[in-house]
Amino acid sequence: MSAIKGSCLCKAVTFSVDAEFEHSPEACHCQQCRKQTGGFFISVNIRKRDMRLRGDAHVVWYQSSQEVERGFCGRCGSTLFWQPLKKDYEWVGVSASLFDSPLSLKMAKHTFVSEQGSYYDIADGVSQHPRYGIVVAKGATERPKQDVLGQLC
Ligand SMILES: [Zn+2]
Ligand SMILES: [Zn+2]
Repeated sequence: MSAIKGSCLCKAVTFSVDAEFEHSPEACHCQQCRKQTGGFFISVNIRKRDMRLRGDAHVVWYQSSQEVERGFCGRCGSTLFWQPLKKDYEWVGVSASLFDSPLSLKMAKHTFVSEQGSYYDIADGVSQHPRYGIVVAKGATERPKQDVLGQLC
């Protein structure tokens, strides 16, 4: 398969993923994700070793909680990444909006709907979780540790 490519709005940050996605996209409605993205945050967990990142000097990291940091483009402000600070954690949440071609997987769940905005409804029939809930794509051999992702976004 050919690599799937992604970029921020200004294209200072680009990346490619050289493997099949092991996870479906998921949407987070927590207040932090809503503030950062301006909507809700739809991301895909990608194994870090499968991602080739260019323009990483433009990625600004903001530590949004004790356990988590969020990356955005310092030039155009695009939301880019979400990752636990835990050392050796293999996965990074990548904003699904960054991909420049259609993804083969559809969004699998809504998380933190207990914090969703009062100004929209979720009516797409996709499963909803008050806080976090693990969903793993078909064929995945490994899953994020629940104790790592915990109850925080
Ligand atoms: Zn940018
Ligand atoms: Zn969130």
